[in-house]
Amino acid sequence: MNAKDIVYVNGSFVPRAEARVSVEDRGFVFGDGVYEVLRVINGRPFATRFHNDRLRRSLEGIRISLKGSDNPERFVEIGKELLRQNALVDGEATLYMQVTRGASTRAHNFPAAETEPTVYISAARFTPYKDLAESGAVAITLPDQRWGRCDLKTLNLLPNVLASQIAKEKGAFEAMLIRDGIVTEGTRTNFFGVIDGVLRTHPLNNHILPGITRSVLRDLAHQVSIDLDESPIKVDEIPRLSELFLTGTTTDVMPVVTLDGKTVGKGRPGSLTRQLQKVLAESLASGSD
Ligand code: PLP
Repeated sequence: MNAKDIVYVNGSFVPRAEARVSVEDRGFVFGDGVYEVLRVINGRPFATRFHNDRLRRSLEGIRISLKGSDNPERFVEIGKELLRQNALVDGEATLYMQVTRGASTRAHNFPAAETEPTVYISAARFTPYKDLAESGAVAITLPDQRWGRCDLKTLNLLPNVLASQIAKEKGAFEAMLIRDGIVTEGTRTNFFGVIDGVLRTHPLNNHILPGITRSVLRDLAHQVSIDLDESPIKVDEIPRLSELFLTGTTTDVMPVVTLDGKTVGKGRPGSLTRQLQKVLAESLASGSD
Protein backbone atom coordinates (compact mmCIF):
# COMPACT_ATOMS: atom_id res chain seq x y z
CA MET A 1 0.00 0.00 0.00
CA ASN A 2 1.45 3.40 -0.89
CA ALA A 3 1.47 6.37 1.46
CA LYS A 4 -1.79 8.05 0.44
CA ASP A 5 -3.57 5.22 -1.32
CA ILE A 6 -6.47 7.04 -2.90
CA VAL A 7 -8.63 5.11 -5.35
CA TYR A 8 -11.53 6.09 -7.61
CA VAL A 9 -14.91 4.39 -7.29
CA ASN A 10 -18.06 5.50 -9.08
CA GLY A 11 -17.28 9.19 -9.33
CA SER A 12 -15.37 9.68 -6.06
CA PHE A 13 -11.72 9.77 -5.05
CA VAL A 14 -11.56 7.99 -1.67
CA PRO A 15 -8.96 6.33 0.57
CA ARG A 16 -8.73 2.64 -0.44
CA ALA A 17 -9.85 1.53 3.03
CA GLU A 18 -13.05 3.54 2.66
CA ALA A 19 -13.84 2.48 -0.91
CA ARG A 20 -17.09 0.49 -1.11
CA VAL A 21 -18.95 -1.56 -3.69
CA SER A 22 -22.18 -3.46 -3.13
CA VAL A 23 -22.14 -7.20 -2.32
CA GLU A 24 -24.64 -7.39 -5.18
CA ASP A 25 -22.15 -6.00 -7.64
CA ARG A 26 -22.12 -8.27 -10.67
CA GLY A 27 -18.35 -8.17 -10.74
CA PHE A 28 -18.38 -9.77 -7.27
CA VAL A 29 -21.23 -12.22 -7.92
CA PHE A 30 -20.57 -13.26 -11.56
CA GLY A 31 -17.18 -11.81 -12.54
CA ASP A 32 -19.37 -9.80 -14.93
CA GLY A 33 -16.98 -7.09 -16.00
CA VAL A 34 -13.83 -6.12 -17.87
CA TYR A 35 -10.52 -4.51 -16.95
CA GLU A 36 -7.29 -2.97 -18.17
CA VAL A 37 -3.80 -2.63 -16.71
CA LEU A 38 -1.65 0.24 -18.01
CA ARG A 39 2.06 0.82 -17.55
CA VAL A 40 3.04 4.30 -16.35
CA ILE A 41 6.50 5.80 -16.59
CA ASN A 42 7.19 9.14 -14.91
CA GLY A 43 3.50 9.93 -14.75
CA ARG A 44 2.84 9.08 -18.43
CA PRO A 45 0.59 6.11 -19.16
CA PHE A 46 2.05 4.04 -22.02
CA ALA A 47 0.16 3.08 -25.21
CA THR A 48 -3.12 4.61 -24.01
CA ARG A 49 -4.77 4.48 -27.43
CA PHE A 50 -4.24 0.74 -27.64
CA HIS A 51 -5.63 0.28 -24.12
CA ASN A 52 -8.61 2.56 -24.77
CA ASP A 53 -9.48 0.68 -27.96
CA ARG A 54 -9.21 -2.68 -26.21
CA LEU A 55 -11.33 -1.52 -23.27
CA ARG A 56 -13.99 -0.27 -25.67
CA ARG A 57 -13.90 -3.59 -27.52
CA SER A 58 -14.13 -5.61 -24.27
CA LEU A 59 -17.09 -3.50 -23.08
CA GLU A 60 -18.88 -3.96 -26.40
CA GLY A 61 -18.01 -7.66 -26.39
CA ILE A 62 -19.88 -8.23 -23.12
CA ARG A 63 -22.50 -5.55 -23.87
CA ILE A 64 -21.78 -3.03 -21.11
CA SER A 65 -22.62 0.58 -22.04
CA LEU A 66 -20.88 3.33 -20.11
CA LYS A 67 -23.18 6.04 -18.79
CA GLY A 68 -23.00 9.85 -19.07
CA SER A 69 -19.56 11.26 -19.76
CA ASP A 70 -17.73 8.05 -18.88
CA ASN A 71 -15.36 6.75 -21.56
CA PRO A 72 -11.90 5.14 -21.65
CA GLU A 73 -10.16 8.48 -22.36
CA ARG A 74 -11.79 9.94 -19.24
CA PHE A 75 -10.60 6.92 -17.21
CA VAL A 76 -7.03 7.65 -18.29
CA GLU A 77 -7.44 11.26 -17.06
CA ILE A 78 -8.80 9.95 -13.75
CA GLY A 79 -5.80 7.61 -13.66
CA LYS A 80 -3.45 10.57 -14.08
CA GLU A 81 -5.20 12.36 -11.22
CA LEU A 82 -4.72 9.24 -9.07
CA LEU A 83 -1.02 9.20 -9.95
CA ARG A 84 -0.80 12.80 -8.70
CA GLN A 85 -2.81 12.17 -5.55
CA ASN A 86 -0.74 9.10 -4.71
CA ALA A 87 2.63 10.74 -5.44
CA LEU A 88 3.33 8.27 -8.28
CA VAL A 89 4.31 10.75 -10.97
CA ASP A 90 7.99 9.77 -10.79
CA GLY A 91 9.34 6.36 -11.72
CA GLU A 92 7.36 3.23 -12.52
CA ALA A 93 3.69 2.65 -11.73
CA THR A 94 0.62 0.88 -13.05
CA LEU A 95 -3.01 1.89 -13.45
CA TYR A 96 -5.79 -0.65 -12.95
CA MET A 97 -9.25 0.05 -14.43
CA GLN A 98 -12.28 -2.13 -13.94
CA VAL A 99 -15.86 -1.75 -15.15
CA THR A 100 -18.61 -4.14 -14.05
CA ARG A 101 -22.25 -4.39 -15.05
CA GLY A 102 -23.15 -2.74 -11.73
CA ALA A 103 -25.13 -3.80 -8.66
CA SER A 104 -28.48 -5.53 -8.90
CA THR A 105 -30.46 -8.35 -7.25
CA ARG A 106 -28.87 -11.61 -8.36
CA ALA A 107 -30.17 -12.93 -11.68
CA HIS A 108 -28.13 -14.32 -14.53
CA ASN A 109 -29.64 -12.14 -17.24
CA PHE A 110 -28.71 -8.45 -17.44
CA PRO A 111 -30.14 -6.02 -14.85
CA ALA A 112 -32.44 -3.12 -15.86
CA ALA A 113 -30.95 -0.87 -18.55
CA GLU A 114 -30.64 2.08 -16.15
CA THR A 115 -28.29 0.13 -13.82
CA GLU A 116 -25.07 2.11 -13.57
CA PRO A 117 -21.86 0.20 -14.33
CA THR A 118 -19.41 0.16 -11.43
CA VAL A 119 -16.15 1.92 -12.30
CA TYR A 120 -13.06 1.31 -10.18
CA ILE A 121 -9.62 2.78 -10.94
CA SER A 122 -6.45 2.52 -8.87
CA ALA A 123 -2.75 3.32 -9.18
CA ALA A 124 0.17 1.41 -7.72
CA ARG A 125 3.95 1.54 -7.56
CA PHE A 126 5.59 -0.98 -9.90
CA THR A 127 9.00 -2.63 -9.99
CA PRO A 128 9.98 -4.32 -13.29
CA TYR A 129 11.47 -7.84 -13.22
CA LYS A 130 15.03 -6.68 -13.95
CA ASP A 131 17.04 -9.72 -12.76
CA LEU A 132 14.75 -12.31 -14.32
CA ALA A 133 14.68 -10.37 -17.59
CA GLU A 134 18.48 -10.67 -17.59
CA SER A 135 18.81 -14.35 -16.66
CA GLY A 136 15.63 -15.72 -18.24
CA ALA A 137 12.67 -17.44 -16.61
CA VAL A 138 11.27 -20.93 -16.15
CA ALA A 139 7.87 -21.80 -17.66
CA ILE A 140 5.67 -24.87 -17.86
CA THR A 141 2.86 -25.89 -20.20
CA LEU A 142 -0.66 -26.66 -19.03
CA PRO A 143 -3.99 -27.32 -20.77
CA ASP A 144 -5.88 -24.16 -21.81
CA GLN A 145 -9.18 -24.55 -19.98
CA ARG A 146 -10.60 -21.11 -20.80
CA TRP A 147 -13.75 -20.16 -22.69
CA GLY A 148 -14.14 -19.24 -26.37
CA ARG A 149 -13.73 -15.45 -26.01
CA CYS A 150 -10.22 -15.11 -24.64
CA ASP A 151 -9.91 -12.00 -26.85
CA LEU A 152 -12.02 -10.05 -24.33
CA LYS A 153 -10.24 -8.84 -21.20
CA THR A 154 -12.86 -9.97 -18.71
CA LEU A 155 -12.73 -10.43 -14.95
CA ASN A 156 -13.43 -14.15 -15.38
CA LEU A 157 -9.86 -15.25 -14.78
CA LEU A 158 -10.39 -18.51 -12.87
CA PRO A 159 -8.59 -20.83 -15.35
CA ASN A 160 -5.74 -18.29 -15.50
CA VAL A 161 -5.62 -18.06 -11.70
CA LEU A 162 -5.51 -21.86 -11.27
CA ALA A 163 -2.84 -22.35 -13.95
CA SER A 164 -0.78 -19.49 -12.55
CA GLN A 165 -0.89 -21.06 -9.09
CA ILE A 166 0.26 -24.46 -10.43
CA ALA A 167 3.14 -22.67 -12.18
CA LYS A 168 4.08 -20.96 -8.92
CA GLU A 169 3.96 -24.23 -7.00
CA LYS A 170 6.30 -25.76 -9.59
CA GLY A 171 8.74 -22.87 -9.29
CA ALA A 172 7.83 -21.46 -12.72
CA PHE A 173 7.26 -17.82 -13.65
CA GLU A 174 4.43 -18.59 -16.05
CA ALA A 175 2.22 -21.36 -17.44
CA MET A 176 1.90 -21.46 -21.22
CA LEU A 177 -1.47 -22.77 -22.24
CA ILE A 178 -2.10 -25.50 -24.83
CA ARG A 179 -5.35 -25.83 -26.78
CA ASP A 180 -5.80 -28.44 -29.50
CA GLY A 181 -2.06 -29.06 -29.77
CA ILE A 182 -1.24 -25.34 -30.12
CA VAL A 183 0.45 -23.01 -27.63
CA THR A 184 -2.00 -20.13 -27.26
CA GLU A 185 -0.56 -17.75 -24.64
CA GLY A 186 0.39 -17.52 -20.97
CA THR A 187 -1.96 -16.94 -18.03
CA ARG A 188 -1.08 -13.23 -18.14
CA THR A 189 1.25 -12.96 -21.13
CA ASN A 190 1.47 -13.50 -24.87
CA PHE A 191 4.56 -15.20 -26.23
CA PHE A 192 6.92 -15.13 -29.19
CA GLY A 193 9.21 -17.96 -30.29
CA VAL A 194 12.00 -18.40 -32.82
CA ILE A 195 12.02 -21.52 -35.01
CA ASP A 196 14.50 -21.91 -37.87
CA GLY A 197 15.46 -18.26 -37.40
CA VAL A 198 11.89 -17.00 -37.85
CA LEU A 199 10.10 -15.01 -35.14
CA ARG A 200 6.59 -16.33 -34.64
CA THR A 201 3.61 -15.56 -32.44
CA HIS A 202 0.03 -16.81 -32.21
CA PRO A 203 -2.29 -14.94 -34.63
CA LEU A 204 -5.00 -12.69 -33.21
CA ASN A 205 -8.20 -14.69 -32.79
CA ASN A 206 -10.68 -15.59 -30.05
CA HIS A 207 -8.17 -17.92 -28.36
CA ILE A 208 -5.79 -15.21 -27.17
CA LEU A 209 -5.93 -11.76 -25.64
CA PRO A 210 -4.78 -9.10 -28.12
CA GLY A 211 -1.95 -8.03 -25.83
CA ILE A 212 -0.88 -4.40 -26.02
CA THR A 213 2.76 -5.37 -25.59
CA ARG A 214 2.31 -7.92 -28.40
CA SER A 215 0.98 -5.12 -30.68
CA VAL A 216 3.68 -2.65 -29.68
CA LEU A 217 6.36 -5.28 -30.24
CA ARG A 218 4.95 -6.25 -33.60
CA ASP A 219 5.30 -2.61 -34.72
CA LEU A 220 8.78 -2.31 -33.20
CA ALA A 221 9.95 -5.55 -34.85
CA HIS A 222 8.77 -4.17 -38.18
CA GLN A 223 10.66 -0.92 -37.56
CA VAL A 224 13.93 -2.77 -36.94
CA SER A 225 13.32 -5.06 -39.96
CA ILE A 226 12.62 -8.25 -38.01
CA ASP A 227 10.02 -10.33 -39.87
CA LEU A 228 7.18 -11.68 -37.77
CA ASP A 229 5.21 -14.75 -38.78
CA GLU A 230 1.84 -14.77 -37.03
CA SER A 231 1.27 -18.49 -37.24
CA PRO A 232 0.61 -20.75 -34.27
CA ILE A 233 3.37 -22.79 -32.65
CA LYS A 234 2.38 -26.42 -32.29
CA VAL A 235 3.33 -28.47 -29.26
CA ASP A 236 5.47 -30.77 -31.40
CA GLU A 237 7.47 -27.73 -32.58
CA ILE A 238 8.48 -26.81 -29.01
CA PRO A 239 11.74 -28.81 -29.11
CA ARG A 240 12.76 -26.75 -32.17
CA LEU A 241 12.46 -23.39 -30.38
CA SER A 242 15.81 -21.60 -30.32
CA GLU A 243 14.36 -18.62 -28.43
CA LEU A 244 11.19 -18.04 -26.49
CA PHE A 245 9.89 -15.00 -24.66
CA LEU A 246 6.73 -13.79 -22.95
CA THR A 247 5.27 -10.30 -23.32
CA GLY A 248 2.96 -8.26 -21.12
CA THR A 249 2.36 -4.81 -19.69
CA THR A 250 4.15 -5.71 -16.44
CA THR A 251 6.30 -8.49 -17.95
CA ASP A 252 7.91 -6.52 -20.81
CA VAL A 253 9.95 -9.01 -22.87
CA MET A 254 10.69 -11.93 -20.54
CA PRO A 255 13.01 -14.60 -21.93
CA VAL A 256 12.06 -18.21 -21.17
CA VAL A 257 15.15 -20.41 -20.91
CA THR A 258 13.57 -23.55 -19.45
CA LEU A 259 10.22 -24.97 -20.55
CA ASP A 260 8.80 -28.07 -18.85
CA GLY A 261 12.24 -28.81 -17.41
CA LYS A 262 13.96 -28.70 -20.81
CA THR A 263 16.44 -26.10 -21.95
CA VAL A 264 15.22 -23.67 -24.63
CA GLY A 265 17.88 -22.98 -27.26
CA LYS A 266 21.24 -22.45 -25.60
CA GLY A 267 19.67 -22.02 -22.16
CA ARG A 268 20.15 -18.26 -22.13
CA PRO A 269 18.22 -15.36 -23.71
CA GLY A 270 18.84 -15.33 -27.46
CA SER A 271 19.89 -12.46 -29.73
CA LEU A 272 16.43 -11.61 -31.14
CA THR A 273 15.04 -11.61 -27.59
CA ARG A 274 17.79 -9.24 -26.46
CA GLN A 275 17.19 -6.95 -29.44
CA LEU A 276 13.47 -6.78 -28.77
CA GLN A 277 14.01 -6.25 -25.04
CA LYS A 278 16.13 -3.25 -25.99
CA VAL A 279 13.68 -1.69 -28.45
CA LEU A 280 10.76 -2.14 -26.06
CA ALA A 281 12.75 -0.56 -23.21
CA GLU A 282 13.58 2.39 -25.48
CA SER A 283 9.95 2.76 -26.49
CA LEU A 284 8.80 2.70 -22.85
CA ALA A 285 11.45 5.23 -21.89
CA SER A 286 10.45 7.55 -24.73
CA GLY A 287 7.02 7.75 -23.11
CA SER A 288 5.01 7.21 -26.32
CA ASP A 289 1.31 7.27 -25.63
N1 PLP B 1 -2.67 -12.66 -22.29
C1 PLP B 1 -3.39 -12.64 -21.16
C2 PLP B 1 -4.29 -13.80 -20.88
C3 PLP B 1 -3.29 -11.59 -20.25
O1 PLP B 1 -4.04 -11.57 -19.14
C4 PLP B 1 -2.40 -10.52 -20.54
C5 PLP B 1 -2.27 -9.38 -19.64
O2 PLP B 1 -2.75 -9.36 -18.55
C6 PLP B 1 -1.64 -10.58 -21.72
C7 PLP B 1 -1.81 -11.65 -22.59
C8 PLP B 1 -0.68 -9.48 -22.08
O3 PLP B 1 -1.40 -8.35 -22.48
P1 PLP B 1 -0.79 -6.89 -22.33
O4 PLP B 1 0.44 -6.85 -23.16
O5 PLP B 1 -1.87 -6.00 -22.83
O6 PLP B 1 -0.50 -6.70 -20.88
